[in-house]
Amino acid sequence: MRIFDPHIHMTSRTTDDYRRMADAGVRAVVEPAFWLGQPRTNTGSFVDYFDSLIGWEPYRASQFGIRHHATIALNPKEANDPRCLGVLDLMPRYLEKDGVVAVGEIGYDSMTPAEDKALATQLAMALGSELPVLVHTPHRDKAAGTRRTLDVVDESTMDTGMVLIDHLNEVTVPLVRDTGCWMGFSIYPETKMSPPRMVQILKEHGLERMLVNSAADWGHSDPLLTVETAKAMLAAGFSEDDVDRVLWRNPVEFYGQSGRLDLSDIEAPAATFAGSSIARGGG
Ligand SMILES: [Zn+2]
Repeated sequence: MRIFDPHIHMTSRTTDDYRRMADAGVRAVVEPAFWLGQPRTNTGSFVDYFDSLIGWEPYRASQFGIRHHATIALNPKEANDPRCLGVLDLMPRYLEKDGVVAVGEIGYDSMTPAEDKALATQLAMALGSELPVLVHTPHRDKAAGTRRTLDVVDESTMDTGMVLIDHLNEVTVPLVRDTGCWMGFSIYPETKMSPPRMVQILKEHGLERMLVNSAADWGHSDPLLTVETAKAMLAAGFSEDDVDRVLWRNPVEFYGQSGRLDLSDIEAPAATFAGSSIARGGG
C-alpha cells in the first residue's frame, strides 16, 4: 500500500512520526502553510516559516524516504491581523519555487471582510501563477462557510478542477460534489470525521475527485489516519485499486496540475532511512 497524505503539518510532528508513517506506507506528503497557534507579529516570521517548508522540512522527510512538497499562503486566521498582511507581497516569489505545488491553505475562518479580501487576492495569485489552490473550510458555520467559499471561487473565474475544498463532512460534501472542485476530508482521532464515516461517504458519493488527509498538526491528531482509512476501505469491500486511487492517484492528479510534483525514486528501500542521522535522533 502506498499512501500520499495531501494535507499534513509535519513542522509540528516529530521524527518518530516520520518513521511510523514511512513504516506504514506513507511515501509522499503535501504540507500546507498554516497558522502556528502562536500569533506571528511580523512578515519576517512568515519568511522563515516558508523557507523551512521548502528547505528544511523536505530534507527532514527525505531522511525517511518520504517526498515532501508544500503549499504557500497567508492563512485565513492571520488574514485578520494587519501585521501579517505584508506577506501577500512576498508570496509571488515563493509561488515560483520548485517544491511549491499550490496556493494554500486559503479560505475562511470567521468570514470577516479581511478574510474576503485575502481569499480573493490569493485566488488571483493562483490564477496568475497557474497553480491549484487548497481551500480550508471553517470548523464553525461549515455549511455557510462552504457556500460562501464556492461563490468566491466562482467569482474568481478559477477552473474548479484546480480547486480543492478541504475539511468537508456529510453535510458539506453534497454542496461541492457537482461543482467540479476536488473534495478533501481530514480524518481526526475523536471529532469531526473518522475512518468509518469516511468509508460511508465514499460509498455514497464515489471515489472521483476524493482526497483523504490526516491534517495532523500541533493539536490532537494522528498522522496514521490516512492508513487507517485505507484499511477501513479494504475491510468494507473496496479493492486495493480503489484504495490506491483515493490515497495515491487522486492527490497525484490534483497536485500534479502544478507541473512541479516530483515523485521520482520514492520507492526507496527501508534501509535508506533506517540508517540516517535523524532516524537515530541525531537531527
Ligand atoms: Zn491544515
